[in-house]
Amino acid sequence: MLHPLIADISATRHILKKFKLRAVKGLGQNFLIDAEVVRDIVDAAEIVSGDEVLEIGPGIGTLTQGLLEAGAHVTAVELDKKLPAVLSETLEGYENFRLIEGDILKVDIGELMPRPFKVVANLPYYITTQILLTLLEKKLPVTKVVTMVQKEVAERMTAVPGSKIYGALSVAVQFRSEPKISFEVSPKSFLPPPEVTSAVVVCDVRKPPFEVVDEDFYIKVVRASFAQRRKTLINSLTGAGFPKEKIITALETSGIEGTRRAETLSLEEFARLSAALKK
Ligand code: SAM
Repeated sequence: MLHPLIADISATRHILKKFKLRAVKGLGQNFLIDAEVVRDIVDAAEIVSGDEVLEIGPGIGTLTQGLLEAGAHVTAVELDKKLPAVLSETLEGYENFRLIEGDILKVDIGELMPRPFKVVANLPYYITTQILLTLLEKKLPVTKVVTMVQKEVAERMTAVPGSKIYGALSVAVQFRSEPKISFEVSPKSFLPPPEVTSAVVVCDVRKPPFEVVDEDFYIKVVRASFAQRRKTLINSLTGAGFPKEKIITALETSGIEGTRRAETLSLEEFARLSAALKK
């Protein structure tokens, strides 16, 4: 069956008109209308036939179509109740497509995707960070996360210690994966155009490169350290409720000056600090 291409401005306008839809701002709806960007995302995800893919927010099926054409088995989770009717028409005839109606932050991803899978998504920007943290913090069999995000978020995901934008998101992402900005995307590639430039980030998921005693506690310490990023580590951690005596001993044991600020600590230093705090 030959499918008409969705990634095109006239096709997208036609679909929205036919189903009497408008992009809902509150749901972060900016639909892709650029076939080249769809192709580049599929390439960045290195999709091969038979790959299991989780797509977050398929919208009217634009990126989904690129994934399906590349032979992926796509499970897509969509929150907007008006879109299933659209998708059953735009993606009619594709066999390897499964739609789950619901909120990605509430569905049980582990149950949906029990086998190794890739995440590929043009994310709704209002919940980008929460989605990334959910995907990377939970112990899911995810191998690659390829997402369109705001350029500024892409830069935070890949920021290195010592830079102004290095923060809890950088640590959480780099703890679980090797993130790389693959390419930037102009607002013109979307309908409606977002106010910001976007970027596609490829995160190759891997085991943390150093030992961490308790991963949840590690992330908790990282978040607490960055909660007030202008403060010294001692003050941030005290502010987060850790007893001062304990903090001082932990900093000594891990060989980290308490006057340093969170943004100067490497991921490995956070691991030493959290292990010492945990004792
Ligand atoms: N994939 C489509 C594309 O590239 O044209 C649409 C991308 S649009 C930026 C984001 C999509 O995520 C929308 O379809 C929106 O309805 C959906 N969405 C928003 N919040 C969601 C949530 N919590 N769970 C699942 N989908 C959500």
